[in-house]
Amino acid sequence: MKTFKRSQIIVTTICIMFGVNTALAAGPGFGNHRGSSACLPGAIVSQLPYEELSQQEQDGLLKMREEEKLARDVYMYLNDLWQDAVFSNISQSEQRHMDAVAALISKYNLQDPVANMGPGQFNSAEMQDLYNSLTQKGTASLEEALMVGATIEDLDIKDLEELLAATDNQDIQTVYQNLVKGSRNHLRAFTARLAAMGDTYTAQFLTQDQVDTIINSPWERGRVDKDGNTVAGPGRSGGGHGAMGRGNRANFIDMNGDGICDNRQ
Ligand code: ZN
Ligand code: ZN
Repeated sequence: MKTFKRSQIIVTTICIMFGVNTALAAGPGFGNHRGSSACLPGAIVSQLPYEELSQQEQDGLLKMREEEKLARDVYMYLNDLWQDAVFSNISQSEQRHMDAVAALISKYNLQDPVANMGPGQFNSAEMQDLYNSLTQKGTASLEEALMVGATIEDLDIKDLEELLAATDNQDIQTVYQNLVKGSRNHLRAFTARLAAMGDTYTAQFLTQDQVDTIINSPWERGRVDKDGNTVAGPGRSGGGHGAMGRGNRANFIDMNGDGICDNRQ
C-alpha cells in the first residue's frame, strides 16, 4: 500500500499529459489555454479505485462539469469586456477544473453534458440562465464584474461542499477537494480586488460567516487529498516552490493556486 501511494505521488508530480482534456474540450478555442493539459487529475483519477457511482454522484459530476464551464465562460466573457488579468487567470484555472471533472466523467463512461458546446452554451437551463444573467450583470462595471466572480465562487463552494458530503468515492472526493480549494482561492482573489476598490461582497449561497472565514484565511497552496489535507509532494518539499508570499499574487494561478496541476516540476 505504501509503495503504491509513493509511486502515485511521483507519477502525479511528473506531470503526465492527460489525453481526455482534448477529447472533452468543450468548444473551439480552448485547447491552447495555458495549463489546459492538466497533469494531476488524470493520474489521480485513473489510479484511485473504480467505485460504483450512486445516482446522486452521477448527477453531481454532470452538474459540476457544467458549473465549471459556467465559471470559465463567464470569466472569459468578462475578460474580453474588462481586459483584467484576474479573469483571464482564473478562467484558465476553471479550464483545469473542467478537465478534472471530465476525467471522472470519462472514467465512469458518463455522457459529457457539454460536449462540443461553445462558450456561453449550456445543456441545463439553470446554467444557461445563470450564464445569461451573470454576464449581463458583469457588463455594468468592473466592480459588478468582480462581484459576479465572487458570486460564482460562492455558489461553487456551496455546491462542492454539498456534493462532497454526498460522495464516498475517493477519486471524486479528491477532485472535489481540489476544486473547492481552488474556489476558495478564487473567492479570495475577487474579494481582495473588491476590497481594494472599497467594496465588500455579500454572501449569497454560503453564510456570511463562511465567506468571511474563507477570505480572512491565508491563500492555500499545493494539492489536497480526499480529506482536504495538503499533500506534501516532492514539488513542495524541495525548495519552497509553494512558499506563501513568494512572487506576485497576480501570478497565483501559475503558482498552483488551484491545486490541480503543478506545472512547475
Ligand atoms: Zn472552478
Ligand atoms: Zn473558481
